[in-house]
Amino acid sequence: MRQRIYSISMNLRIIIKFIGLTLSFYKKSKPGIYFLMYHSIGEKINLEIDIDSSLFKKQIGYLQSRGEIISIDTASKMIEEKISLTKQYFVITFDDGYKNFYLNALPILENHNAPAIIYINTSFIEHPEMIPIDPRVGFTKKMHPMSWKIINKIKDNSLITIGCHGHLHKELPTISSANIEKDIKKSLSIFQAKLGIQPEHFCYPRGMSNQRVENLIASFFISSVITSFHGKPLECIKNNYAIERIPVLKSDGLLWFKLRVSSKLYLDILFFNFISKKFLR
Ligand SMILES: [Zn+2]
Repeated sequence: MRQRIYSISMNLRIIIKFIGLTLSFYKKSKPGIYFLMYHSIGEKINLEIDIDSSLFKKQIGYLQSRGEIISIDTASKMIEEKISLTKQYFVITFDDGYKNFYLNALPILENHNAPAIIYINTSFIEHPEMIPIDPRVGFTKKMHPMSWKIINKIKDNSLITIGCHGHLHKELPTISSANIEKDIKKSLSIFQAKLGIQPEHFCYPRGMSNQRVENLIASFFISSVITSFHGKPLECIKNNYAIERIPVLKSDGLLWFKLRVSSKLYLDILFFNFISKKFLR
């Protein structure tokens, strides 16, 4: 049944995208910092969050022709100094710590000299069977995490920032403050032991937060990202602990991707999130 609702809503979503395409002719894209959310590159699986390597390469090239890809630290500084922005900037983010980041995404980022941040979920690295994929995004076979040895290599790459994605990948608004602290401290102690670093940026598991969670996270990190549930691109960032991200989807190809990063397409995400919350949880 869930599978059926999923495939029907995927088809409806395509129709809504075409409506978005028509509307897009009447909208202008705006300057600002746009955060993009990726998970998996070139795994060749039928999941919206897995982007083909050749498409990813085109997307990175497109972003660079359109504006500038900057690191999360540069973005944080711009936000802090409240610099007025005259063009589009992009921050590339990856969630969870899949091995295909190292195998498929990193060579492309290096070729384009494009910075990115990867938010590592520590329990996934320690226990590869604990795949942190939300069942709402699809139904999949096994995906593998990076090893600590690989993450150590990535740590020394000046283009890549290592971020924290919690330990157990629990939806933080649903657990007590004491347990959130425990989860974060556990994750940070593993980073310290395995990499000798303390990540400064956080990503809420499943992109979920609330005011209580944000206040807690602020005592550990300098920024934190969520999933943009209305899918609307950012034109300015109001809250460093609830930075919204545009989800990049396989079915977007290059055309819809171009519209998304031009602040012209988000109705379909609004629709799909509604379906996910109502029927796929
Ligand atoms: Zn995750």
